[in-house]
Amino acid sequence: RTVFVNGEYLPETEAKVSIFDRGFLMADGVYEVTSVLGGKLIDFEGHAKRLERSLNELDMQKPEEFDDLLDIHRKLVELNGIEEGMIYLQITRGAPDDRDFVFPDPEATRPTLVLFTQNKPGLAANPVADKGIKVISIEDIRWGRRDIKTVQLLYPSMGKMMAKKAGCDDAWMVEDGYVTEGTSNNAYIVKDGKIITRGLSNDILHGITRAAVLRFAQEAQMEVVERPYTIEEAQAADEAFVTSASTFVMPVVEIDGAAVGDGQVGPVAKRLREIYLDESLKTAI
Ligand code: PLP
Repeated sequence: RTVFVNGEYLPETEAKVSIFDRGFLMADGVYEVTSVLGGKLIDFEGHAKRLERSLNELDMQKPEEFDDLLDIHRKLVELNGIEEGMIYLQITRGAPDDRDFVFPDPEATRPTLVLFTQNKPGLAANPVADKGIKVISIEDIRWGRRDIKTVQLLYPSMGKMMAKKAGCDDAWMVEDGYVTEGTSNNAYIVKDGKIITRGLSNDILHGITRAAVLRFAQEAQMEVVERPYTIEEAQAADEAFVTSASTFVMPVVEIDGAAVGDGQVGPVAKRLREIYLDESLKTAI
C-alpha cells in the first residue's frame, strides 16, 4: 500500500514518523476518516471543513499541503485501487527536539501529515446493516471537547472492548443520565416516526454523516427532533441507529440486553441508509 507522509508518497514499510512526534507522545493530533464508494470520496468538503475547525480550536497550524488535500486523497485512491473503503488522515503538532508540555514554536516545528487508505470491499452492501448491531451503555468519561476530532481514542477503544466482552458490537456513552453518542458514531432513536438525536454542542462530535442524514431526512418529510434522551427512552423507542463515515446508517436492535422495537431492523433506519447511500453518491467527488 502506498501512503502519504509529509509531502511524500511512499510504500507503507518506508514511511517514518519521529518518536518525538506529539501525536505519539501526547495524542496532540486531529484526524478525519472519509469513505470511498465507487472510487469516489463521500462528503470530502464536510470533512475538510471540520478538519480546519479542529486545527483552529487546538491552535495547530495547517500543514503546507492543506489546499492540496483533495488531490492527495484522490491520488491515494488511484494508487491503491480503492473502489470501496476509507481514507484516514491525521495531522499532529509535529516532532519538536524534545518532549515538553509547552507547544513547540510553530516556526521551528512543522505539523506531521499522514494519510493512508483502507480497502473495504462491500462497505455499502454490508450484511451487518441487515441484522443491526447490539450496544451496551457505559458512562461517558471523556474530556469536555468532544466536538474536536482528536486522536485521543483510548476510552472509546475501551468502550468497544467492554461491548465485545458483553457479547455486543458497540457502546453508547451516557452523561448525566443522557446518551451523548456511540464510541465512534452519532446515536439516534425513532419514536412515532420522529427521528430524535442529541443536539450539537461540545459534548459530541459534529458528525459529517449526521449532518447529511438529518438533511436527507428533512428533505424526505421526516420529522427530526434534536434533544437528549435516556437509555430507558431508547430501549422503549420503535427503532435506534447510529451514523458515521465508515458505517453510514447502521441500525441498532438491542440496548443493554433489551430489544428495540421488535428487535429487527426498522423501516426508518433502513430507508435512511438507502437514501444516504443514494444521495451521497450523487455528490461524491
Ligand atoms: N462521534 C464520534 C465519537 C466519532 O468518533 C465519529 C466518527 O468517527 C462520529 C461521531 C461520526 O462522525 P462522522 O459522521 O463525521 O464520521
